[in-house]
Amino acid sequence: MNETEKIDWIEKLPLLKKIIEKQEVLWRNPLNSDSATGIAQSGITAADVKEASDRLKRFAPYIANVFPETAATNGIIESPITAIPKMKEALAATYETAIPGELLLKQDNALPISGSIKARGGIYEVLKHAETLAIEHGLIEQDGDYTRFAEPEFRNLFAKHKIAVGSTGNLGLSIGIMSAKLGFNVTVHMSADAKQWKKDLLREKGVTVVEYADDYSKAVEEGRRQAEADPLCHFVDDENSLDLFLGYAVAGERVAEQLQERGKKVDEDNPLFVYLPCGVGGGPGGVAFGLKLQFGDNVHCFFAEPTHSPCMTIGMMTGLHDEVSVTDFGLDNQTAADGLAVGTPSAFVGKKMEPLLEGCYTVADETMFKLLTMIADTEDIRLEPSALAGMTGPIQAIRNEMPKADAPSAMHLVWGTGGSMVPENEMDIYYGIGKGIGRK
Ligand SMILES: *Cc1c(COP(=O)(O)O)cnc(C)c1O
Repeated sequence: MNETEKIDWIEKLPLLKKIIEKQEVLWRNPLNSDSATGIAQSGITAADVKEASDRLKRFAPYIANVFPETAATNGIIESPITAIPKMKEALAATYETAIPGELLLKQDNALPISGSIKARGGIYEVLKHAETLAIEHGLIEQDGDYTRFAEPEFRNLFAKHKIAVGSTGNLGLSIGIMSAKLGFNVTVHMSADAKQWKKDLLREKGVTVVEYADDYSKAVEEGRRQAEADPLCHFVDDENSLDLFLGYAVAGERVAEQLQERGKKVDEDNPLFVYLPCGVGGGPGGVAFGLKLQFGDNVHCFFAEPTHSPCMTIGMMTGLHDEVSVTDFGLDNQTAADGLAVGTPSAFVGKKMEPLLEGCYTVADETMFKLLTMIADTEDIRLEPSALAGMTGPIQAIRNEMPKADAPSAMHLVWGTGGSMVPENEMDIYYGIGKGIGRK
């Protein structure tokens, strides 16, 4: 993008000026439409998501066996929804903004196996690939005993096959751990911002880690290039994968069940607001899609991004999607929220979200750290910085007068996307940074 084009865009979309100045802003999506139309336009159906859900159920007995931490949920990888009333009070006081509705946290930080939202899509895609291979090779049928995936016959088959992925970290953890468990030959291409402990943990599990001095897009591009040259290699394409998207979308039916168990209705008078931290878009996009299937026009989804990496915000505002990078507008894509350090969004997801997303908003790193410490102090919950991007959502929605956001009957569900895998010493450092900012 040249300087003239940039100036034209800023003239057309004045909010871009604030985004360039790294202010925390909310963008309302003018293309947001009725849910039925949006879902129909997506080309993805409820049956597609159900197929993903059924596949996860087939694998549940295997998962329960090989990951004993999932035994309590019978091999279904799911996280709790937790009410966080003390955090709500602290938020409202800090921002001097009343939150009349209920504040809930979706605790994907506590998802078993890899401790982040990536345990949804990432693990699903690996399982689907394993199932496809096993059926092709006559090892199993869909109504067979899936605990057999741990048997040598299966492992020998998978050892001849490769899986590769490019990642800032958490997707690499999910794909790496699941693939290695099944016996695949797996390579994770990691960007410069990926944390050392993630690389160490993967290597410990027998995963090949290739490091790049460059950012996420470069790691993905290199990974894709190397994988394409090898017919036995399956590349998990974070930017374009329908399977990842469907794996995330299964969250919709799970949330519906969980809210029902809590005795919560979602309807016109009881709207659900959901705030999803967004990197390349697959995780939040898939989850939002799954929620739209369940709750239609009564769920209002927002994506949250760092002020230094608002790639989906810029991509959707301009309609340029993956043809624009945050660096085109002078932003550096440097953020401590490593799960969100993405400069160019997924066009696949951005286009599907055009009629379904309420809006996007941005969050400064300082805010994420401050809120990280706040929720540790008030609720004793540890989240990684990226996972706090959702937390200012209720404030943004209420201050920007999103319809019904300030209703006492509104539910605000913040998607806590990760945290339990972060080593304690790293978490102590995060906590300390937030404490320092809080005192200022
Ligand atoms: C990956 C990630 C996200 C965002 O998911 P995308 O699919 O990249 O948009 C949010 N939070 C955490 C902790 C993540 O690891």
